[in-house]
Amino acid sequence: GQWLGVLGAGQLGRMFCQAAQSMGYRVLVLDPDEVSPTADLADDHIMAAYDDEKALGEMAKRCLAVTTEFENVPARSLELLSRRTHVMPGARAVGPAQDRCLEKRFIESMGVPVAPFAEIRELSDLEHLPEGLFPGILKVAQLGYDGKGQWRVANRQEVLSAFEQAQRVPCVLEAKLDLAYELSVVLARDTQGKQVVYPVSRNIHHDGILAVTHVDGVLTDTARAACQAAGQIADGLGYHGVLCVEFFVLKDGSLIANEMAPRPHNSGHYTQNACVSSQFEQQVRVMAGLPLGDTRLLAPAVMLNLLGDVWLRHQSDQPQEPDWDAVLSKPGTSLHLYGKRCARAGRKMGHINITAPTFEQAVGVANEIVDLLDLPCRAVVPS
Ligand code: ATP
Ligand code: MG
Ligand code: MG
Repeated sequence: GQWLGVLGAGQLGRMFCQAAQSMGYRVLVLDPDEVSPTADLADDHIMAAYDDEKALGEMAKRCLAVTTEFENVPARSLELLSRRTHVMPGARAVGPAQDRCLEKRFIESMGVPVAPFAEIRELSDLEHLPEGLFPGILKVAQLGYDGKGQWRVANRQEVLSAFEQAQRVPCVLEAKLDLAYELSVVLARDTQGKQVVYPVSRNIHHDGILAVTHVDGVLTDTARAACQAAGQIADGLGYHGVLCVEFFVLKDGSLIANEMAPRPHNSGHYTQNACVSSQFEQQVRVMAGLPLGDTRLLAPAVMLNLLGDVWLRHQSDQPQEPDWDAVLSKPGTSLHLYGKRCARAGRKMGHINITAPTFEQAVGVANEIVDLLDLPCRAVVPS
C-alpha cells in the first residue's frame, strides 16, 4: 500500500491513522516520543524532533502526502516537506492559525467579524488599551490550547498582572463577549478547491476545554452564515484538508469567529458515528487525491469528552477504569479511547458518541452517561 505521513502522535494522529489504515494506506508518523497514542498503531514511526531535517527528508521521500495533527509544527518543517511531497494543509494555511494576531487579522480580512481585540507586543502597549476591551480575556498569541495561557481580566490593573504572569509576547486582549452559545464548522477542501461542510455543531466548554458537542442537523440561518464564513476562510487560505472554525453567537444573534484549527477538531469527533464519512476519512481522501466524502448526518448526535478526571474521581489513590459496561449498555453509544496510559486531570483520554433517532433522545442518553460518569456538563436541548 501507499504511505501517508502525519506529524504528531496524539489522539488526532491516532484517529487519522485508523481511518487511513481502514482505507488501505500505511501510515508513517513523525514524533519525538517513543510511546504515544499514534506510535502504537502506525505502520512506522520516525522518532525525531519536528524540525529534524533528515527525518523530514525521509518522511517526504516515503509518503504520498503528509499532514499534521497540531497547528504548532514549525512552518519551516512544512516547507521542507513540500519540496518533495504534498503537504496538507501547507505552511501558508497553517501560519495564521499559529498566532492569534495573524489569525484575527486574516479572518477580518475575509469579511468575517472577530471579537474586539488589541495586540500587545510590549509593556507600553498596555497603556493604550481601549476601555471597551474590559472586562476582557488576555490570551498568549501562540501555543495556547484548551484555555491554557488565558487570563480573565476586569480592568487595567488586572491585565498588567496577567501580562506579567504570561511572560510571553505577543498577547492579545479580547473583549469578553456575552455569549448565547458557541458553534463550530468543520469542512474539507480538496486540491481542486471543492468543499464539503459537515452539519454545524453546538458546543459547551468547561474550564476552557470542550465538554459537550450537540448536532441536531437543523440548518438555522446562523448555522448557514457560519458555514458560509468558514468556507470563505478556507478559500482565502487556499486550504487543502480538514479545517475547523469556532464561532461565538452573541445574545443579539450576531456571529463572531473565535479561532480556527487547521486539522480535524474535537468538535467534529461526532462525525465518526453520525456521518457517512468521518472528518478523519475526509483528511485521508484529500491527501490521497480521492473524491471528497459524504458529510450527510445519518442521525442526530451528542459527543461527550472524557478527561482524565473521570479516571481519578475515586476514593482510592489509584486511577480506576470507568464503568464502560454501564455506558455501552445504553442505546446508540460508541466509546473511543485514545490509549493514553496515564490519566491526568484535564487530559483528553477519549470521547463517547451518542446517536439516536431524535436529537432529544440523544440528549437523554447523553445525560444518563453524564450522571453515570459524573461528567461536568449536561447536554441541552436549546429552548
Ligand atoms: P482550543 O482548545 O479550542 O484551541 P483555546 O485555548 O484556543 O482553546 P479559546 O477557544 O480562545 O481557547 O477559548 C476557550 C473558550 O473560552 C471558548 O470556547 C469560550 O468558551 C471562552 N472564550 C474565549 N474567548 C472568549 C471571549 N472573547 N468572550 C467570551 N468567551 C470567550
Ligand atoms: Mg485554540
Ligand atoms: Mg477554541
